[in-house]
Amino acid sequence: MSKADDNSPPGAAASMLADVLLPLKLPHPFTYRTSPEQMVQPGAFVRVPLGNRREVGVVWRLRRADAGSLSPNGAKAVQGRLKDIDEVLTHIPPLPTAQRQLVDWLADYYITTPGQALKLFMGAREAFRPPRAQTGWRAAMNADEARAAGHRITPQRQRMLQTLAKATAPLPTGELMQRAEVGRSVIQGLADAGLLRAEPLPGSASEPRWPVPDPDGFAPPELTGEQQAAAQALRGAVRHGGFSVHLLDGITGSGKTEVYFEAMEQALLAGRQALLLLPEIALTAGFIERVRQRFGIAPAQWHSDLPPAARGRIWRGVAAGAVRIVVAARSGLFLPWKDLGVIIVDEEHEAAYKQDSTVPYQGRDVAVMLGKLAETPVVLASATPSLESIVNAERGRYAHIRLRQRYGPATLPDIELIDLRAHKLPPRQWIAEPLAHAVDATLKRNEQALLFLNRRGYAPLTLCRACGHRLQCPQCATWLVQHRRFAAGGQGEMLLCHHCGHVQPLPHACPECGAEGLLAPVGPGVERLAEEAQARWPQARVLALSSDLFSGMDLKKRMEEIAAGEHDIIIGTQLVAKGHHFPLLTLAGVIDADLALETADPRAGERTWQLLAQVAGRAGRAERPGRALIQTHMPDTPLMQALAARDREAFLQQEKAARQAAGMPPFGRLAAIIISAPSEEDAHAFATALARFHPPSQLIEVLGPAPAPLARLRGRYRYRLLLKGPRNADLQGFIRVWLGQHKPPANIRLDIDIDPYGFL
Ligand code: ADP
Ligand code: ZN
Repeated sequence: MSKADDNSPPGAAASMLADVLLPLKLPHPFTYRTSPEQMVQPGAFVRVPLGNRREVGVVWRLRRADAGSLSPNGAKAVQGRLKDIDEVLTHIPPLPTAQRQLVDWLADYYITTPGQALKLFMGAREAFRPPRAQTGWRAAMNADEARAAGHRITPQRQRMLQTLAKATAPLPTGELMQRAEVGRSVIQGLADAGLLRAEPLPGSASEPRWPVPDPDGFAPPELTGEQQAAAQALRGAVRHGGFSVHLLDGITGSGKTEVYFEAMEQALLAGRQALLLLPEIALTAGFIERVRQRFGIAPAQWHSDLPPAARGRIWRGVAAGAVRIVVAARSGLFLPWKDLGVIIVDEEHEAAYKQDSTVPYQGRDVAVMLGKLAETPVVLASATPSLESIVNAERGRYAHIRLRQRYGPATLPDIELIDLRAHKLPPRQWIAEPLAHAVDATLKRNEQALLFLNRRGYAPLTLCRACGHRLQCPQCATWLVQHRRFAAGGQGEMLLCHHCGHVQPLPHACPECGAEGLLAPVGPGVERLAEEAQARWPQARVLALSSDLFSGMDLKKRMEEIAAGEHDIIIGTQLVAKGHHFPLLTLAGVIDADLALETADPRAGERTWQLLAQVAGRAGRAERPGRALIQTHMPDTPLMQALAARDREAFLQQEKAARQAAGMPPFGRLAAIIISAPSEEDAHAFATALARFHPPSQLIEVLGPAPAPLARLRGRYRYRLLLKGPRNADLQGFIRVWLGQHKPPANIRLDIDIDPYGFL
C-alpha cells in the first residue's frame, strides 16, 4: 500500500476496484485501482501496468474498494500490490455485454483461459492507439500587421496569408501549398517567424467516414415465388429482432445469396449492422463486387491478411456502428458489434469454419451463440448443410427453409459414376476413357471442362525405385509432396510438407540407399494432372488452379478468365469447387472420389458428399445443361449410389443411422485431448497415466491413448485420447476435474479440442 492510501479519508474508500482481463494466457483477471475521474465502466478498454510492461485489457468487473479484496472471478492484484489503471481508452467504446458474455462462454466451452478467449476480440492492435490528430495552419496576423511588425512580406508570403485569411478552417500543409501556390519552405519560414499557428483540424481525430447504405442505391432483383417466401421469412425474423436461427437450405444456383441479401437489406434499412461470414474470404473478390452492386456501397472486408491500419479502422468503425456491412472470415464474429441486425453464415457446412489453433472453435457454432447473446437472428446457408444443422432443424431448433429450383433455365447436372475397377487406368494416367470422351465432346462444343482433384502439387509421394524408400518430412509423420511449379516462378522440383511447411529441393540420390536418379513421383496432384490433360488435348488451353499456384489478385484474374471462356480445361482443387459461377462450364469430372473417404474422420462420408455435390454443381450453371462424371473404386457404396441418384434423403438417412449407431455427433459428443512431447516415451507415458486415472463417469467413455492420426507433427510425438458421451454429457466438466488432478510436466503439451473436426 502506498502512503496516500494509508492517509486517505474514510469517504475515499468508495473508490472502485476494477478486475481487468488481459488478452494473455493468464488464469484470472488482475485487480487495479481506478480514480473517480476515470469514470471506468464495465467493458472499458484500459491500459494497465503489468510487471514492467503496459497492456491493454478490458474491465471485467467493477467493485467497491471497501467491499473486501476477494473477487468472485478470482482476480488478484499484480504481484500482490494494487496498482492504478494508467489510462482509459476513451476513443473506443467499451466492449459490449454480449461480447463479454461470449468471451466467458468461449473460455468455458472450449476449456481455455478467458484471456485467450479475449485475445480473439483484440486482434486489431491499431484500434487501441488513439487516432492521431492532424493539424492545419492559421494566420497569426494579416499581411499589414506583419509588415507593421517588421516582417518582410514577399508576394508568396502575401498569397499565403491571403489564402489563410479567406479559409474558414485551418489548412493542412499540402492544401495550403496547392491553394497559395507556394513551396513547403515558404510555409516553414512563416511558421518559424511566428506568423502561422498550427491548430488541430476539426474532426480530424474522429473516424474516417464510412459509406452509409442508401436504400435508393439498393438493386434488388425480382424474386421467384419460392425465393419470395424464403425472403419473407428472413425479413420477418430480422424485422422482429431477437434470436432465431434459419437454415437456408437450397440447391446450388437456387438464389440463396439473393434471399439472404434480403435479410441483410432489412437490417440495413433499420439502421443496423449486417455480418456476412464466408469460409474463405480472401478468395472472394467477385463476391464482394456482388455485395457492392446489391447495396450500392462496398462492404468492409475482415480477414487475417488485412494490413494492421485497415484492421484498426474497421474495428473502430464496427465499434462505433459506422461500418454497416462486413463480409468476413470466421474472425468477424469477434468484432465489437454495436448494433448487429443479422448474422449470415454462408456455406455453413464448410470445415474452414473450424479453427484449429489457439482456441479451437467452430465458427458456425460461435455464430449461433453470438446470435443468442446479442439477440440477433442467424441465417445458415448451404446447398449441402451439415448433418448437425439438419438435425437441429428436424428437432425444431432451427427454422428450415428449402429452395428446390435453380434460378432461370439452369438445371442440376446429371451425375454418372465411372467404375475404375472396370475402366482400368494405364500407368501414370488418371483420366479414365469415359471421362476423356466427355471432355472431347465438351471441347467440340466449345464449352469448358473442370477436372477436380483435391491435391495440391505434382505428386503426393516420392519413392525410390531402387529400395522403395519414401521421402518423409523430417518433422512430421507425413510424406513430402512434390511440387514443380510455384506462384513465385518455377524453382524446379521441390518437396513440401503440407503440415509444417518444411521445404527442400528434390534430392538427386535416394537418402536411404544412395541410388541416383531413381526417385519417382507416385500418384497425381493438380500439376501432374494438368500435364496429362495437356498431353491428351494439345490444342486445349489448360489451367491448373490451387491455392499455392495463385492467390489474391492473380487468382481473381484467373477466375475472370475462366468466366470469360479463356480456358478450356480447368484442373483444380476445392478452390474452384466453391461458389464460382462459370457460364461456359458444362462438364465436371471428379478424378478420385474416394480420396476424402480415406481418413479417420467420422464426418468423412458427409464431407465427400458435400464436396462432390459442390463440384457437380459447378457444371451447367447457365443455359447449357451440365454433366458430372465421378471416378471411383467404390461405385456400389450407398454414398456413391445416393450421389448418382441425386438422392439426398437416402444419403442423409444412411449417414444419420450410422452416426446414431456409433454415438457420433450430432447424436453424441466428442472431445479430443492431444498429448504431445519431443520424446515419444514421454508423450506415451503421460497419455497412458492420464488415461488410467480419469474421473468415474456413467456416461463418458475415454478411448485411447492411441497415436494421433498425425503421429508426429513439427517434431513432436502425439498421442490422442478421445472422449465420447451422449448429448447431455458434461464433457467439459469431466475434463476440468480430470486435468485439474493431473498437471502435465513442462515437456508435455496438452491440447483440448471440443467437438473435433478433421482428426489430425
Ligand atoms: P446460390 O447462392 O443458391 O448458389 P445465387 O443467389 O448465387 O444462388 O443465384 C445463382 C445465380 O442466379 C446468380 O447469378 C444470381 O444473381 C441469379 N439469380 C438468382 N435469383 C435471381 C432472381 N430472382 N433474379 C435475377 N437473378 C437471380
Ligand atoms: Zn512437416
